Amino acid sequence: MTEVQLQEFKLEPDSELRFEVESKNEKVVLEVKSGYAELFGTELVKGKPYEFHTGAKVAVFTWHGCTVELRGRTEVSYIAKETPMVVYLNVHAALEQQRVAAEQENTRGPVTMVVGPGDVGKSTLTRILLNYAVRMGRRPIFVDLDVGQGHISVPGTIGALLVERPASIEEGFSQQAPLVYHFGHKSPGDNLELYNTIVSRLAEVIAERCENNKKASTSGVIINTCGWVKGAGYKVLTHAAQAFEVDVILVLDNERLYNELKRDMPKFVKVVYLPKSGGVVERSSAQRAEARDARIREYFYGKRTPYYPHSFDVKFSDLKIYKVGAPSLPDSCMPLGMRAEDALTKLVSVWPAPALAHRLLAVSFAAGPDDHVLHCNLAGFVCVTAVDPERQTLTILSPQPRPLPATVLLLSELQYMDNH
Ligand code: ADP
Repeated sequence: MTEVQLQEFKLEPDSELRFEVESKNEKVVLEVKSGYAELFGTELVKGKPYEFHTGAKVAVFTWHGCTVELRGRTEVSYIAKETPMVVYLNVHAALEQQRVAAEQENTRGPVTMVVGPGDVGKSTLTRILLNYAVRMGRRPIFVDLDVGQGHISVPGTIGALLVERPASIEEGFSQQAPLVYHFGHKSPGDNLELYNTIVSRLAEVIAERCENNKKASTSGVIINTCGWVKGAGYKVLTHAAQAFEVDVILVLDNERLYNELKRDMPKFVKVVYLPKSGGVVERSSAQRAEARDARIREYFYGKRTPYYPHSFDVKFSDLKIYKVGAPSLPDSCMPLGMRAEDALTKLVSVWPAPALAHRLLAVSFAAGPDDHVLHCNLAGFVCVTAVDPERQTLTILSPQPRPLPATVLLLSELQYMDNH
């Protein structure tokens, strides 16, 4: 059901306009005509047109009232008066108090982890809290542990960013110098040992960086997590909480998870239950796959600002490709002193073959396969667009021109069909 092409909305204070762009190749332009409004914590500039494309699910919130215009076909568009924004603002105010205290006492600012099942608005709340912090002049660190969506870099990675300005309405947070670690799968469950290893490593590196950056340290960290909260997924969350030494856990819309965390976390960790917004839209697995694909396309081709990636051939013999995780053997078959789980973080050499077509390869900063590869962050990604077994070459799509740096490449399970 599509609606009219030009719509004007009058929003009262403390309400939001929600809309979705669904149809293929559709574009909706949003403009604030009068008053003040924000989008997931970023202020909108009056009279400036903002574009939204297929798959966008958006809320324009106003504290003081405003008039907004939408041009283009929206799947749905309505004004909601019930939102949890006041509750989220109170959370921000409480975090801000802790930052002030950290500044005065020369200690660390609040480390906050956002948890909850899939599609409850974890990423959105993370974005709102980061935006509010940076609008107060803070420099918080954004950590994304959600390997399924990958808001920093591409899906199949975890990463961190120092947030120095609010997220751009159309392009999200600026991706300058992110810290990114390779996982290579869409769910932590595909290799728990590896996931926990890189989460610990990321936490360690952030703690080190905070020691040298007082502003970031007092501003604190906000961590977005995966929507897998039961069984082994719960253990993954508690491991991350421990690794990052979190002070606050915000639980969205899941009382069971809230109670479990209250029971299992040390007393000094504040576990807070928060309602989810009625506007959060559930996504089907097909929509998630599309979002992953769009994220990878953006990585290579940009979003609003276009990028121009390079395509070139590389000889099989010039490549050092590895995957992480050897098949695990029972403990009784392992050499003395090694655990079966150790195999899951081993590098295994991969010889180029047609099966590599469309796979992503992570370009590691590691100098060689013996250089603690899993502890090294990533320079970026390339995608194998074709394999020619006769000429023994791979065709590579790369953000950088040739040659490919002569370092370790890590094979990801994620695929991308380049039909740009
Ligand atoms: P999670 O991280 O828990 O999976 P997200 O924060 O990604 O959930 O939210 C799911 C979807 O809902 C996203 O597309 C987001 O843009 C949309 N969304 C979040 N909050 C609102 C809202 N208040 N109104 C409309 N859409 C929203």
